[in-house]
Amino acid sequence: MSIADNIAAFEAKLAGTGARLVVVTKTHPVERLREAYAAGARIFGENRVQEMAAKQLELPADVEWHQIGQLQTNKVKYLAPFVHTVESVDSLRLLLELDKQAAKHSRVINGLLQFHIAQEDTKTGLTLAEAEEFLQSAEYQALRHVRLIGVMGIATHSPNEALVRGEFRQLRQIFEHLKNTYFAGHDDFKEISMGMSADYEWALAEGSTLIRVGSAIFGSRG
Ligand SMILES: *Cc1c(COP(=O)(O)O)cnc(C)c1O
Repeated sequence: MSIADNIAAFEAKLAGTGARLVVVTKTHPVERLREAYAAGARIFGENRVQEMAAKQLELPADVEWHQIGQLQTNKVKYLAPFVHTVESVDSLRLLLELDKQAAKHSRVINGLLQFHIAQEDTKTGLTLAEAEEFLQSAEYQALRHVRLIGVMGIATHSPNEALVRGEFRQLRQIFEHLKNTYFAGHDDFKEISMGMSADYEWALAEGSTLIRVGSAIFGSRG
């Protein structure tokens, strides 16, 4: 199966679900991204800042670039001119820096709050209490150049369907709680980014709106 065939197969699976495909392009050379673009992909996910910045220069301007890996505040300036969504927002400090750098370019950067839902402690993310603490702060409420549009999470890497679906369900409940409590009436707070190559079907069943797929499209990363 070619990259184009794989993307078409995903688009067919997503038709009618309301969910969209983030093509995870990390580690792959620009030629493969061009193939994905030619096949209709418009949302690309990368986890390294320098790599995304270099690739962005070589692809058409209508690509939506999503940062999906942990982002250090000192690297925000390299993404600020072009990044569409930072899916890995894990602190107020990062939001403040995104706001500051986006303002310099007269832009608004979208953010997803990344929550820790997996059993492994290596997977980063916020607890609900941490997120609520900063959502209530005056510092957060003063931001004008970042817009939170939803949540993101990475489930435990496991073949145990009940476990993984339970984690996705927990993320959806966090989303619903935040939506009702802090974002009622904010139509753009609507994204639940969950599901990767191994578990996207379970994520879709639990209400994912963005699946992040790399290896099922490009093959395994070398
Ligand atoms: C690499 C990565 C993906 C894609 O993983 P695949 O298993 O290749 O689909 C999705 N989300 C995040 C956060 C990643 O780092």
